[in-house]
Order: sequence, then C-alpha cells, then structure tokens
Amino acid sequence: MHSPSPYPHLLSPLDLGFVQLRNRVVMGSMHTGLEDRLWDFGKLAAYYRERARGGVGLIITGGFAPNREGWLLPLGSSLTGGMEVPAHRRLTQAVHAEGGRILLQILHAGRYGYHPLVVSASPLKSPISWFAPRELSERGIEKTIRAFVRCARLAKAAAYDGVEVMGSEGYLLNQFLCPRTNQRRDRWGGSLENRMRLALEIVRRIRRMAGERFILGYRLSLLDLVDGGNTWDEVREIALALQDAGLTLLNTGIGWHESRVPTIVTSVPRGAFVEVTARLRKELRIPLIASNRINTPELADAIVASGQADLVSMARPLLADPQFVAKAAAGRGDEINTCIACNQACLDHAFANRRASCLVNPRAAHETELRYSRARQHKRIAVVGAGPAGLSAACVAAERGHRVTLFEAADTIGGQFNLARRIPGKEEFDETLRYFRTRLQRLGVELVLGRRIAPGELSGHYDDVIVATGVRPRLPAIEGIHHAKVLSYLQVLQGAPVGPQVALIGAGGIGFDLAAYLLHERSPSPERWRAEWGIDLGGSTPGGLVAAEPAKPQREIWLLQRKPGALGSGLGKTSGWVHRAHLARNGVHMLGGVAYRRIDNDGLHIEIEGREQVLPVDNVVICAGQEPLCELQPVQGSDHLRLHLIGGARRAGELDAKRAIREGAELAARL
Ligand code: FAD
Ligand code: NAP
Ligand code: SF4
Repeated sequence: MHSPSPYPHLLSPLDLGFVQLRNRVVMGSMHTGLEDRLWDFGKLAAYYRERARGGVGLIITGGFAPNREGWLLPLGSSLTGGMEVPAHRRLTQAVHAEGGRILLQILHAGRYGYHPLVVSASPLKSPISWFAPRELSERGIEKTIRAFVRCARLAKAAAYDGVEVMGSEGYLLNQFLCPRTNQRRDRWGGSLENRMRLALEIVRRIRRMAGERFILGYRLSLLDLVDGGNTWDEVREIALALQDAGLTLLNTGIGWHESRVPTIVTSVPRGAFVEVTARLRKELRIPLIASNRINTPELADAIVASGQADLVSMARPLLADPQFVAKAAAGRGDEINTCIACNQACLDHAFANRRASCLVNPRAAHETELRYSRARQHKRIAVVGAGPAGLSAACVAAERGHRVTLFEAADTIGGQFNLARRIPGKEEFDETLRYFRTRLQRLGVELVLGRRIAPGELSGHYDDVIVATGVRPRLPAIEGIHHAKVLSYLQVLQGAPVGPQVALIGAGGIGFDLAAYLLHERSPSPERWRAEWGIDLGGSTPGGLVAAEPAKPQREIWLLQRKPGALGSGLGKTSGWVHRAHLARNGVHMLGGVAYRRIDNDGLHIEIEGREQVLPVDNVVICAGQEPLCELQPVQGSDHLRLHLIGGARRAGELDAKRAIREGAELAARL
C-alpha cells in the first residue's frame, strides 16, 4: 500500500492541454556561465540532467539573447542561428531522457547589457551599467520582434518544450513597459497600451509561429520596486492582455536589478512576495507561477494548496539540491540541502562573470568535474572538527564508502556556523546544520562530540586524518586590549552583556554581522520587514514603493576599519549593498582610515587623518579577522599518518564557508 504523499499539492501533475507536467516544481532561470560557450554544453547538459533526474517538473534555462544587442555580456549566451541548434539538442535530450520538460528563456538585456551595442526604449543609462543605451528606432523594434520569433523557432527546432520570454527584473521588455525608462512619444511609448505593445507583439507572433502545442511563458514584473514603475492596475491589465495574446503560463518577477529593495537575499523573509502572485491568481485563467525566497517543500506545497499559485519556481534551491523533489516525494525532506539564500557562489559569481556554483553544494554546475564515486578501497578516516569544512569532508567520504569518525571539541556540530545562525536574517544557516546532522546519521558517520583531539592522539588508528579545526579570532595589538570593556565577537554572540554605545574594530563580514546583531537582536516580522524597506504589496503607488519606516536601533554603533574609503567593499556583490543600506538607515557611524590608539575607561581613542578623538563607548568588540587553529600540524618525523588540512585550519585568509565546504568535498572526493 502506498503511503500518502507528504506534499500532495506540490507533487500533483499539471495538465496544460497538450502536455503534462509531472509536478508543480519549476526550476527557475539561472545563469550559470556555462550557457555562454557552446563547448560547455556537455557540462550544462549534465547539470540539467541531474535536476531532471531528481524529479523537477519543468526546467527553464538561463537567459539566451535573441540578437547581439540583447547580450548581457559581449559574446554572451544567445541563440541566433541554426548552427547552434545541435548543441541545444544535447540539453533537451538530457532532460527528456529523465522525463522532464524544458523551456528556453529568451532574455534581451536592453540597457542592462554590459557592452557598447546596448539599446532600450529611451536613451537613459541605468545606474548599474557603464553603457548608455541607444534608443531603438521603429525599424529596430521590428527587427527585435523578429529576433525573438527567430529565437523561439530555433528553440522549437532544438526540441525545447517551449520558451519563456523574460519580461521582468528591469530587462528590455520591462524597460518598454514602465514610464521610468520609456519616454517615447510614438506608438511604443506614452499610454499603457503603447508601452505594452512590444511585449504583446512578441507573444502574439511567437504563438503564431509555434502553433498551439508549444509552451509559451512570460515572466512579468508584478512589483517593480523602482520609482516610475507600474501600478497594480497596470500590472493586472498587462497580465490579462498577455494571456489573451496566447500565453500558456505566467511567471512572477519581483523588483528590478537596480531596485534598492532586497528581493532574494537571506534576510528577505521566506515567501515575502507570494501575496502579490495570489492577487493576480484570482484574475487569470492560465496557470501562474510564484517565485522569490521559496526554498522548502512545506512552503511550496502550502502555496499551491491554498491556491495562491499553480506552480512554484525555485532556482537556487535546485542548485543547492538537485534531489529536492525526489527527497520530498520519498518523505526524506529532512535530507534536503536547503538553499540559504547567501548568493555567494551563484549570483555573486554570475555577476563577476565566473561560473556559478553553490556554497552548500559545490558540485552544482560542476557535475562532470566533482564526482563522488564509490571508493575502490574502503579506508578508516578520522575528521577533526565539525565546522563546515569537516562536515562536508565527513559526509562525502562516507558517501563514497569510507568508514568515517568525526571528532568535535564542542558539544554540537557546526563550528562558526553556530555563530552565524544567531545573526538576525541568517536563520537559514540552521538548515545547513540540520542537513548535515541528518546526513551524518543516515551515512553512519561515527560522531564523537565534546572531544578535543591532541597532537599525535590518532596515530595508528586511521589511514587518513582530515584536520578541519578552523580558526581562532585575531587579537590585535592595541594598548588596553585586555581592558574589561573589550569583548570578542565570540563572547558577544554567546550572550555577553553589551552596553548602549559600542565600537566594532574590523568591518569585514563579521563586523557587519555583529553591527546588525547589536542593532536588533531578532529579525523583524515580515510585515515589519516590508515597512522598514518601504514596500507596498498593494501596488497603489507606481512600483509599489512607499516611505520606509526604520525601526528604532537598540544601540549607537561605530563600525571601524584601518583601510581608507567606504566600508563593506569586500562584501558580496549582490548582498553587500543590503548590509550597507541596513546599517546606514539605523544610524551606524561607518569610519574608514582609522588608527587605533588605546582603550581605557573613557572609551576607544582613535585617529583619523591626524585628528585624535575618543569614542565614548561602553564596549569595544573585536572583529579583526582570524588566524588558523592548527595545533594538529604534523611534527616532522614524529607522525606517520596521512594528514590533510582543509578550511580555516589550512588558511584563515579569505576563508568563508564556501571555501571550507568546497575544500572538504574536493579532498574527500579524492581519497
Ligand atoms: P570552523 O567553523 O571554525 O570549525 C572548526 C571546528 O573544529 C569547530 O567546531 C571547533 O570546535 C573544532 N575544533 C577545533 N580544534 C579541535 C580539536 N583539536 N579537536 C576537535 N575539534 C576541534 N561564512 C560565509 O561564507 N558566509 C557567511 O555569511 C558567514 N557568516 C558568518 C557570520 C559569523 C558571525 C561568523 C562567526 C562566521 C561567518 N562565516 C560566514 C564564516 C564561516 O562560518 C567560516 O568561514 C567557516 O565556519 C569556517 O569553517 P571551518 O570548518 O574551516 O572552521
Ligand atoms: P575579514 O573579512 O577578513 O575582515 C577582518 C576585518 O578586520 C577587516 O575589516 C580588517 O580591516 C580588520 N583587521 C584585520 N587585521 C586587523 C588588525 N590587526 N587590527 C585591527 N583590525 C584588523 O574577516 P571577518 O570579518 O572575520 O570574516 C571572516 C570570513 O567570514 C570572511 O571571509 C568573510 O567573507 C566571511 N563572512 C562572510 C559574510 C557574508 O555575509 N558573506 C558574513 C560574515 C563573515 P582593516 O585591516 O582595514 O582594519
Ligand atoms: Fe543558495 Fe547560497 Fe547556494 Fe546560491 S550559493 S544556491 S544562495 S545556498
């Protein structure tokens, strides 16, 4: 007898009339970088194949430009000629062989393109690009429409099940739709009817070319989150017109890339924008897809069950775990490697023109290169330290058949992730610890907690010892560093009392996180979060923006660094601005070019550009980076063990969890 499905709504098929999707999970479009070169399509096919094998209902590729003007980057991904079709067939064949469906996303970047050929509705430069666009002429618009149709025809020839036309996030079609970027006075600008003419014309002509048995999707910006965006009434009117023009599916887009409101980083509450999708759902007859910060089967199932949307798009969660659907279907949801929305290995890489991957799953987009194949010889392996590096190494080694013992000095696993999870807005880090805890157990790793390993202790018992003992906080040489008012970030996050005025020495990722923690020790409710960022889900204002209502900070904070210039330049490309804006709004004094003189009863004495001043603080918190903790380094000639150093124990500089987890996995894949 079958046990009932734990996620019956999410896992139920959807009949589109001429084709059936096996469930409601859509893998949203995500640029990995492999799309840019045809010779990488073998790797791209392996990446999609793994997700289709894991049970995803519908995959949407990364964006492909329909012509040169639409490139995101010079010579970036595009589909413009028949010569490219065979390479695309490798992708469609891989997905179809696993029972999945796949759409090609057609993306014209418009003024977001990073090259001199950029075009837009009007010649207005975007605040996030160097290149001013040329205004498309009437003839140029006609050529653009034909390019979209040609791209869709080539997609059909490559056996895609359909296409998604990218019309959100501030790309070309969004630029035509909104008064912010469309100031034309001809029949393509001005009234809403004129502004949406291009999008409708593209959809109509693709439908005419492709016939009825071809999935035609459109990603529409339901909330622009920029000044000069559309109102809700306009969005609704566009959606209905697109539906009439021949769409099969409509997908949700939230915010433009230039918008100053976060929409997908980890501090955005889960499902923060589903309400907007739900409002449109009531108006449409075609299926509607929800998106943005949906990362668990529970939430996705609830969205479909309550009728807020018909399908749920998850892009990053499927990078993090290609087996997401299969695990959910098998009732093994606790084994899902959940996306923590950090952007560190996916979007930050994509925006830096590097191949995307995933912090919690370094195999993502590297499926053919990083393989966890069964080991020929099963060894006895000890891993010392259960931080991200040690956890990753222990799991991969055990998965390959080795006998693994994991020693941890603390009474719990996680290392510094146990500190990270206490930062407001980083609660998702708990999911990674839950994932590793479950994996260790299912893989039969012997976990020994509360045991600090001394040098030489493991000799003779193991074939290989992996040292993943991490880092210790750096104590800078400043006069008065042992004063009672000085605390380390460790002490603060472990609950040491902190006064109302605080200086933080060091403004790296941890300094910024500590500042956020000391401002508000808890995350706001979703309603309060929206108020703080000035988001009006009702869309009564153009773009859905209203005046922000900042919360009252709990402390006055000085965040300091020795380097001159703006603070936070080393933070993630797609998340750093959120941290900076949050601290600035809460009145944090951010000072660069600081020389630390001394700490005494009066506070912290500093010097900036030759001027001395005293910050009258109750506490000084040290966030000045770390040094490796590697007491277990082999002593020359005294130890015959094969010792391997990974993560912070190997090198503290430029350490983050992305490197720690990747190093653990890469080493264990080789042993
Ligand atoms: P650690 O996490 O330090 O783990 C080492 C483990 O080894 C510890 O559990 C320790 O108890 C154990 N150990 C040490 N010596 C012994 C011994 N002799 N015997 C047994 N056990 C031993 N990184 C990111 O990428 N993104 C973030 O957003 C992020 N946010 C952070 C926020 C905060 C507040 C902090 C503190 C860190 C954050 N980090 C973040 C950094 C990230 O957590 C570290 O880079 C990562 O944990 C390093 O992993 P590791 O396994 O090398 O070392
Ligand atoms: P970090 O990013 O290296 O920053 C260390 C800070 O301390 C810098 O501001 C540095 O600036 C200062 N500093 C260094 N030596 C000092 C000294 N001797 N005296 C005084 N100040 C000194 O390290 P971290 O903040 O500890 O973070 C550790 C790792 O975790 C990083 O790799 C980081 O990426 C990762 N992390 C990431 C995030 C994220 O959101 N992505 C969040 C937290 C942590 P000056 O030298 O200019 O003073
Ligand atoms: Fe999610 Fe971070 Fe992985 Fe990107 S890198 S998929 S945000 S966990």
